[in-house]
Amino acid sequence: MSYFLDIQPALVTLPIVGSSSLFPVRRVYCVGRNYAAHAREMGKDPDREPPFFFMKPATSIVAVNGSEVSIPYPSQTKNYHHEIELVAAIGSRAENVSVEQALRHVCAYAVGLDMTRRDVQLAARDAGRPWEMGKSFAYSAPIGPLHDVTKLGHPSSGAISLTVNDQVKQRADLSELIWSVAECISHLSALDALEPGDLLFTGTPAGVGAVVAGDRLHGSIEGIGDLRIRIGS
Ligand code: MN
Repeated sequence: MSYFLDIQPALVTLPIVGSSSLFPVRRVYCVGRNYAAHAREMGKDPDREPPFFFMKPATSIVAVNGSEVSIPYPSQTKNYHHEIELVAAIGSRAENVSVEQALRHVCAYAVGLDMTRRDVQLAARDAGRPWEMGKSFAYSAPIGPLHDVTKLGHPSSGAISLTVNDQVKQRADLSELIWSVAECISHLSALDALEPGDLLFTGTPAGVGAVVAGDRLHGSIEGIGDLRIRIGS
């Protein structure tokens, strides 16, 4: 039974701007409905209900470093949505940390896309079932290179936007986050200890919508750069 000895761990890494080091991705957490206008477009009340979280596997990450990357149109959907998001990278263990201490554990930020099979997600949501098959699948988390906080700082404002075929679809400001990065990390770290290598997708602003094969997506966040994706067939 040597079969199992041939199984290799799937190590997913992200480049860090200005460094030859690579960031090994451990877990990918995502925040749901963290901009009021997006909560409304999803048919929900954006009142400050506590932040809630879901996950994607590390293998959903697509590292996009500079040039455009093509990702396949996923199976079992007719409503494949873009969600542009600020991503925070965890650099040190964070267990039940306060809001005031939370950002000490963030080592970098990046621009990410929480690609979503919206029809699958909403069918699950409306049936009271887990969202996983709408959110967690291969190629569902394209992300740009990480920007070290020692150079970038911790952005709390700045434009976040996404165009599809050069048309603006999402445009907002990081200051519109319902729950700040620090607040999200504090809440999440009370549920489970965060570890170096974990990523947190912090939620998407309004304007989510469907893409189809051949579409070109350009996401950007002021000060953090951009990423370019083409939807394959
Ligand atoms: Mn999202």
